[in-house]
Amino acid sequence: MTPAELKAVAKSLGMPGFTGDQMAKWMYEQHVRSIDEMTNISKANRARLAEKYEIGCADPIDAQLSKDGTIKYLFPVRTTAYKEGEEAPAKRQPKFVETVYIPDDDRATLCVSCEVGCKMNCLFCQTGKQGFEGYLSAADILNQIYSLPEREKLTNIVFMGQGEPMDNLDNVLRSTEILTAPYGYAWSPKRITVSTIGIKDKLRQFLEESSCHVAVSLHSPIHEQRAELMPIERITPIEEIADLLRNYDFSHQRRLSFEYIMFGGVNDSLTHARQIVKLLQGLFCRVNLIRFHKIPNVNLHPTDDKKMESFRDYLTAHGIFATIRASRGQDIDAACGLLSTSKKTAEEGRR
Ligand code: SF4
Repeated sequence: MTPAELKAVAKSLGMPGFTGDQMAKWMYEQHVRSIDEMTNISKANRARLAEKYEIGCADPIDAQLSKDGTIKYLFPVRTTAYKEGEEAPAKRQPKFVETVYIPDDDRATLCVSCEVGCKMNCLFCQTGKQGFEGYLSAADILNQIYSLPEREKLTNIVFMGQGEPMDNLDNVLRSTEILTAPYGYAWSPKRITVSTIGIKDKLRQFLEESSCHVAVSLHSPIHEQRAELMPIERITPIEEIADLLRNYDFSHQRRLSFEYIMFGGVNDSLTHARQIVKLLQGLFCRVNLIRFHKIPNVNLHPTDDKKMESFRDYLTAHGIFATIRASRGQDIDAACGLLSTSKKTAEEGRR
């Protein structure tokens, strides 16, 4: 909640409005885990608040540690909604999302999830295979940071975990607002990147209402092939997304990147590199080439290192800044969706 909303809560319970500011300070500055820890609020008022409200934090229930320091956490989800804007307690079976902590020299990035499962059904993605099970509330998005053991070490946050951020935009915007507001975490929006496969209207809204960096999942510049890999292409071709992005300035405060997972013999040819150059003409952006982490029952394979390097070199030589992302956490199945899928299968087996 924002301080204004917390103030309204306080007033609705007959407390002075400034109790809302006190609550915001306890949560966003002190990161308390219970209302009872808010000791400058009277004991009676704390008890009344606790009758109806809670902080909303929950510790991760599982963690996989990679030898490279990457940690994949499994967080329980407390509230999900099946329609945007609706919020209901998680029911039927427990739900979980993955959050990945990636330390790297002087940076520590957290990859957060915004939905349980995903509707978008991208061919190469294990989360897509889970189907859609609900939108995370802003509280459950923020809990992945609030309850992270390494919270104080974080330098960057990327919304690149499970779910499509533009499909849960209200809650993503609410969580980035709290992350960047002076009353909240007071982070610069430059430390936050939100990814999308390209849902046009929502992306436009995001570009208007947020200053965070944007990452677009590209994965193929060729319409028919991208449609095979990412069904969203049939609704909004990537060319339309590139046209939309041309209306915004990414040369100063805000960064635009295109994510490109490389699949051996599929999207790693010279033709693909040429088409990328054509597609991204006039856009101030970078391309991140990503090694594919294999997932079960999908006939896609990683491109070898040499080919990735020549692909990168071609793009760079043709005016597009391209990098090869270091592969992290391979020994812990860092591909998103694998840990939560195994947890989900275990829960279903138990029922
Ligand atoms: S890649 Fe992203 S948008 Fe596509 S299915 Fe996976 S989580 Fe959803």
